[in-house]
Amino acid sequence: MILKDILYHRPESIAEAIGLSQECLNNGQRFHYLGGGTDLIPNLKRGQCDDSLHLISLGRIPDLKKIVEEDGKLKIGALRNLAELINHPLIEKIIPGLALAAGKIASPQIRSRATLGGNLLVDTRCVYFNQTETIVAADGACYKNGGTVCHLIPNASGKPNKPCRARFVSDSAAILVLADAQLEIASASGIRKIGLREFYGQDGISRNNLSPSEIVVGITVPLRDYRVMTYEKMRLRATFDFASVGIGFFSDGQTLHFSVNGVESYPLYRAFALPKTGENAVEGIYSSWLQGICEELAKNCSPLKQDLLSPAYRKQMIAVLAKRAAYKYIKPRSLNTLEC
Ligand SMILES: Cc1cc2nc3c(=O)[nH]c(=O)nc-3n(C[C@H](O)[C@H](O)[C@H](O)COP(=O)(O)OP(=O)(O)OC[C@H]3O[C@@H](n4cnc5c(N)ncnc54)[C@H](O)[C@@H]3O)c2cc1C
Repeated sequence: MILKDILYHRPESIAEAIGLSQECLNNGQRFHYLGGGTDLIPNLKRGQCDDSLHLISLGRIPDLKKIVEEDGKLKIGALRNLAELINHPLIEKIIPGLALAAGKIASPQIRSRATLGGNLLVDTRCVYFNQTETIVAADGACYKNGGTVCHLIPNASGKPNKPCRARFVSDSAAILVLADAQLEIASASGIRKIGLREFYGQDGISRNNLSPSEIVVGITVPLRDYRVMTYEKMRLRATFDFASVGIGFFSDGQTLHFSVNGVESYPLYRAFALPKTGENAVEGIYSSWLQGICEELAKNCSPLKQDLLSPAYRKQMIAVLAKRAAYKYIKPRSLNTLEC
C-alpha cells in the first residue's frame, strides 16, 4: 500500500493545469488531476489506476471554488469539498437534497477533504476490482483490472469489447441528475457544457465522456423548487460505506423523478408523470399506482454480485426505498398535491 514515486504539481490557474497535462500527453507521460485524493490515492496505492508519474493538484485554483447564484442558476465549483456543501446557505436554500446526499457520503473525515468534482468522477466499484493485488492475482484479473475475464458475467469473458458492470456509486450525482444539472468542462480548446444525464456511459471502465486532460470546472443547477427531493441510501455501515442501493427522488408536482445509485454502471434516471385523477383519488388507487412505478423502477435495474449484499435483495430494496422516498412527501389521499 505504498504510493509509487510521483511528481506533484500545484498549478494556480485552470490554464496552467491544462498546460501541464498537455505537456504530459505530448511527452507520453501519465498523469492524474487530484481533487481531495480520497478516491484516487487509495486506488493508486492498490495499483488500481495506471502508474502515474504526475499528479496535478487542483486545490490552489480559486476559479474552481465558487458557489454563486447567477443567471437563474446555482453554480458550484468542482473543488468545493463535501463538508462545505452540507452547511452552505445557498445549497440549503436552493437544493437541500444535495446537502442531504453529501452528508451521506463516506465519513466526516473523508467529506472534509473530498470534493464535489471528485465525487462526480469517483471510480466505479466491484467486489472483484476493489481488492489488493494479491487477491486480484488469486482470482484472476478482470477486465477493469487489465485482465481478460469478467467474474460477474462469465460468458462475457474473452469478449473484444470487454464489457464491465462495476457499479456507479456517486451519491451527489444521484441527486444532481434529478435536477438536470449541467457540467462545465475546461480543456485546451475552451469550455464545453454537458448535461449530467448524458455525461455518464454504461461501461464500468470508461465510465463517462471526459477526455484525459479535461478539467471539471463545476456544476450548474437550474433554479426550480427542489423542496420535494430526498435521497435514501442503503449501505452495510451507516456511517461509512458506499451505497449498496441509493434512491434519489424529486417531484415538481407533475412528474416523479427517480434515480438509482449503486447498481448499474451509471446513475439510472427515470421519470413518471403523475396520473391526472384529481384531488379525490382514493388511497387504494394511489397506492397501487405508486407500488407499480416503484416495481417498474426495480425491473429496469439488474444488480449483479458486484456488492456484498445479494442481487435479489438489492433489487427488492430498490422498490422499497423508492416508495419510502415518495411517501415522505405525497399524502396518499391527495394524488396531485405534494407536500413538504
Ligand atoms: C472509506 C471510503 C468511503 C467512501 N464512501 C463513499 C460514499 O459513500 N459515496 C461516494 O460517493 N463516495 C465515497 N467514497 C469515495 C470518495 O471519497 C468520494 O467519492 C470523494 O467525493 C471523491 O472526491 P475527491 O476530491 O477525493 O476525488 P479524487 O480522489 O481527488 O479524484 C477522483 C477522480 O476524479 C478526478 N478528478 C478530481 N477532480 C477533478 C476535476 N475537477 N476535473 C477532472 N478530474 C478530476 C481524479 O483524477 C480521479 O480520477 C468513499 C471513499 C472511501 C475511502
